[in-house]
Amino acid sequence: MAEAGPAEGETPSRLVVLAGPTAVGKGTVTAAVRERHPEVWISVSATTRAPRPGEEHGVHYWFVSDEEFDRMATAGELLEWAVVHGVAKYGTPRGPVEEALAAGRPAMLEIDLQGARQVRETMPEALFVFLKPPSWDELVRRLVGRGTETQEERERRLETARDELAAEAEFDVTIVNREIHAAAEELVTLMTAPPASGRRAPTIDDQ
Ligand code: 5GP
Repeated sequence: MAEAGPAEGETPSRLVVLAGPTAVGKGTVTAAVRERHPEVWISVSATTRAPRPGEEHGVHYWFVSDEEFDRMATAGELLEWAVVHGVAKYGTPRGPVEEALAAGRPAMLEIDLQGARQVRETMPEALFVFLKPPSWDELVRRLVGRGTETQEERERRLETARDELAAEAEFDVTIVNREIHAAAEELVTLMTAPPASGRRAPTIDDQ
């Protein structure tokens, strides 16, 4: 017999919202989930920012014009949306999320804090997971190490990151991103585990 899991009919189709400070590694952890857990449905956001090298339309993001983004927002096609780092708009197309949940697939959104707060309002039953760096210095190293932003952009992102770190208490669970694959496995476990009876689940932190 398989290990005990949720009884048939009880398995929640769980929506996990992953947020955390800039450059904490949300994208890399999400990529690790995508690679190892094809059973998990991962939302593809719409954005007005330009693609980075290697990013594909419809895979990493839906790259849309400002006009198209505004049309989607006005038409109610976005579950949430936000201007991130004061530069570009990012939003979660609503239809695909609803379809994935209706189909019983564990689903995840990787979005910024403003977006997570909006989803908290509209879908409070989702599980809100905060991805945290092992330390502030490590976060700065990761941000600088990525080298894809200008100095001005980096400073803006660090400022956002400071505010975002302070938001940890708003989340149900914290995962410390010490190692990408370990963090990805913790996340998938949360998606497939039965919901905790209380609102606040324990912090996953091996300190
Ligand atoms: P990047 O431009 O580096 O891919 O992403 C910048 C930030 O936008 C990240 O913090 C990411 O979580 C956030 N983001 C990506 N997609 C969405 C979305 O659909 N909604 C919101 N609110 N934030 C998003």
